[in-house]
Amino acid sequence: MQYISTRGAAQPLNFRGATLAGLAGDGGLFVPTHWPQFSADDIASLAGLSYAATAARILAPFTAGVLDDGELQALTAGAYASFDHAAVTPLVQLDERHFLLELFHGPTLAFKDVALQLLGRLFERFLTGDEAPLTIVGATSGDTGSAAIRAVAGRAHMQICMLYPDGRVSDVQRRQMTSVDAPNVHVVAIDGSFDDAQAMVKRLFADADVTARHRIGAVNSINWARLAAQIVYYFYAAVRLGAPSRRLAFSVPTGNFGDVFAGYVAAQMGLPIERLIVATNINDILHRAIASGDYATGTVVPTASPSMDIQVSSNFERLLFDAHGRDGAALAAQMQQFDSARAIQLTGAQRAHIGQLFSSARVDGDAMTAAMQWGWRNAGQMVDPHSAIALAAAQTSAADLPRDVPLVSLATAHPAKFGDAVRAAIGVDVTLPQRLAGVMDAPEHMTRLPGEYGAVRDFVLGL
Ligand SMILES: *Cc1c(COP(=O)(O)O)cnc(C)c1O
Repeated sequence: MQYISTRGAAQPLNFRGATLAGLAGDGGLFVPTHWPQFSADDIASLAGLSYAATAARILAPFTAGVLDDGELQALTAGAYASFDHAAVTPLVQLDERHFLLELFHGPTLAFKDVALQLLGRLFERFLTGDEAPLTIVGATSGDTGSAAIRAVAGRAHMQICMLYPDGRVSDVQRRQMTSVDAPNVHVVAIDGSFDDAQAMVKRLFADADVTARHRIGAVNSINWARLAAQIVYYFYAAVRLGAPSRRLAFSVPTGNFGDVFAGYVAAQMGLPIERLIVATNINDILHRAIASGDYATGTVVPTASPSMDIQVSSNFERLLFDAHGRDGAALAAQMQQFDSARAIQLTGAQRAHIGQLFSSARVDGDAMTAAMQWGWRNAGQMVDPHSAIALAAAQTSAADLPRDVPLVSLATAHPAKFGDAVRAAIGVDVTLPQRLAGVMDAPEHMTRLPGEYGAVRDFVLGL
């Protein structure tokens, strides 16, 4: 399988090249040349397979030519052995139509682990050690940082330097990063805001002295391999609910559009998905784009579901590319217009393509709270704010779907990660899972630096 850029001008790469490159050279995102096809028999044959074995089957066409079956099976087995639930991504039934797909049983209790646990192992496999080690640099406002650190800790040929704004992440979030004790993990508390930390990371990437000393890499959600790993749980859940002979709908709490785009890929591959519901909080750029074709940035309003507080959804470009007949030059022009005007109108063809599979819903704080209360009273389930946005959107969308279509809401964070919000909604304390309790007692490892670029630069040059 080869990977081409959504902007049409970069050299195609194989899976190894696309994984290590992240962003394409022309500023676009990598997508496979075609969507692999799974027949009804292929889907039926997934029944009864473990999560890791399902992952190896689904990923095989994407890694073809780079990893053989045995290697792929070993990588997925290792990645998903780090989860503390034997089903890896279990389904929980809420009522006769609604289900939760729990994606938070990984090392940091958020769905980012599903992709990053595999990505760390792919990097280790693809980096030969003949070249300089990969130095992954990032800034985090909370969840992605800890999942990336856990993905890289102790792995060969790479190190990670993660910046976070001192005093502006929660206790749990900080300890999930600083409790990791590995020589290739460097956690740095910066005096400043998340935006300051992010700006410093951008400067590091562009700093000739830094790039001469280190091979700098990123693990952000535009990486194709991360997306590919997320296709798996759509198949895994659908097969448990009767696919290929039954159609189903997924409601996805959306920020950067990575998670829900993986559902789109599953549908292109042949999974019988009736509807993908893009659930947003009040930062609703994607809801506006899907409902009215108006893709325009606004200002970000902080909410109780911070991982969905976004202005721009990088992965939306991948959908616009497909919806534009895969015309890279036309998409490059459209994205250029978006970069300068911060707003575009989707074409009629794009809207028609998107409307075949997607719908959207904007969920405000009250509706989120109501969904958390409904889950608790109705099914005894504690639901975190992000997952509650998906559930609320699924509930409002149910009437538009045939009655025999089950609705699966993706649960992207463990309720204990957002214990204060859960308590505020349902009046009950969330007990810390064993995994988190250990983190809260462990010694912390970090470096504090002033909010000056020179200090961060010297630190990175010294790694
Ligand atoms: C990252 C994240 C999301 C949003 O996922 P995208 O792939 O960026 O759309 C939703 N919920 C949680 C808890 C997350 O960490």
